Amino acid sequence: MSGRDSERAVPRADTVLSDARVQAAVGRLGDRIVKGAVHAAQARVHNGEIAAGGVVDEVLRTLPATAASLRPVLNATGVVLHTNLGRAPLSAAALEAIAASAGYVDVEYDLATGRRAARGRGAVVALLDAVPSAEDAIVVNNGAAALALVATALASGREILISRGELVEIGDGFRIPELLEATGAQLREIGTTNRTRRDDYATAIGERTAIILKVHPSNFAIRGFTASVPVRSLAELGVPVVADVGSGLLSADPGLPGEPDVESWLREGAHVVTSSGDKLLGGPQAGLIFGRAEFIARLRRHPLYRALRVDKLTLAALEATVRGPAPPVRRALAADPAELRRRAAVLSDELRGYGVSAQVVPSDGLVGGGGAPELRLPGWAVALPMGYAAALRSVEPPVAARVEDARCLLDLRCVPAADDASLVAAVVAAHSLVPGSC
Ligand SMILES: *Cc1c(COP(=O)(O)O)cnc(C)c1O
Repeated sequence: MSGRDSERAVPRADTVLSDARVQAAVGRLGDRIVKGAVHAAQARVHNGEIAAGGVVDEVLRTLPATAASLRPVLNATGVVLHTNLGRAPLSAAALEAIAASAGYVDVEYDLATGRRAARGRGAVVALLDAVPSAEDAIVVNNGAAALALVATALASGREILISRGELVEIGDGFRIPELLEATGAQLREIGTTNRTRRDDYATAIGERTAIILKVHPSNFAIRGFTASVPVRSLAELGVPVVADVGSGLLSADPGLPGEPDVESWLREGAHVVTSSGDKLLGGPQAGLIFGRAEFIARLRRHPLYRALRVDKLTLAALEATVRGPAPPVRRALAADPAELRRRAAVLSDELRGYGVSAQVVPSDGLVGGGGAPELRLPGWAVALPMGYAAALRSVEPPVAARVEDARCLLDLRCVPAADDASLVAAVVAAHSLVPGSC
């Protein structure tokens, strides 16, 4: 067929768009996305890659599932809080709360009086119920925003005392000391990298001291000849103590020994405690600030708070996470190794039935996301030849696997059991893409 003939054979965009199924897609995804898919399909007919009669099917096949480009991924890495995969997956309760608050909602409106009400009061009350030692709390955009607000409102133009062992880089080049200095506060470094004593703080305290900041080194551990000063001792020094637990653990968890929590640090005497709303709390991205009423009031009054506050969707998801059933993060952390092994065996059997070389192997999961760096979470995985790792990212649903010892491991810890069938389907689809596997 000559170029002209094939051009003539290309169905007109109007014709394709008038198809009822394509119209339905326009209603769901909007004009632009569907037209883009139509033009791409027309180009494929023009290039002789598909038949003219297959245009509508091609359009429907290539349309995205939603009008946003983010794609759900099966997390088979065994890393519970995977920064590149959006950290904490939300609970069903949080999702429902988001959907219910997506429209007009009484986020700042008292339905009894018809007057303005304190914004997001429900989320704050839920947080205070979960952290009884906190007199008050506020919610901002993320953990970094919580630190920025605290440093700006409480220490701008003055000094923050911080141990040299707590000058932490969180990840992707984000350094807490740089953030603090950007607020106009001066850092005064205390002690040495491995050892800081109470006296080091005591002698550094002067007129310009605004706060003592204790930062949990959440993503590394220093071992050997070390010393740091507990919140309890810092609180005796007569200067407000701000403590950053990082993780979002609201109260002590025996399954996470050594991870500090908000309630315990407040009880030890911290005036203010900051944390993330996701990470170990398992909620939406947010920064939580708890503490004495007078300090929280100063933060709430500061103009920067208006720039850092969260939207109604975050407030809804956060409240539902704190009040609702255990979120996926908690379930993944507590997954029963025997059950993971049983699922790995069933999946391997099934995959071998499709000609995939699959084996059940032990696999240690990680908390990830800058939490509990030393904690190993014993579990089980399905091991495939290494070539599957890349292929698995290109199938539907995409799967992020772990490559270890030249194998592709599918660690089941963070894959909900309800998704096992999708995981098998993804591996079977990847099987045909792996050179030499068929
Ligand atoms: C993760 C973390 C932060 C930053 O929190 P984000 O929610 O990622 O902004 C701050 N401090 C500590 C100790 C952390 O672990």
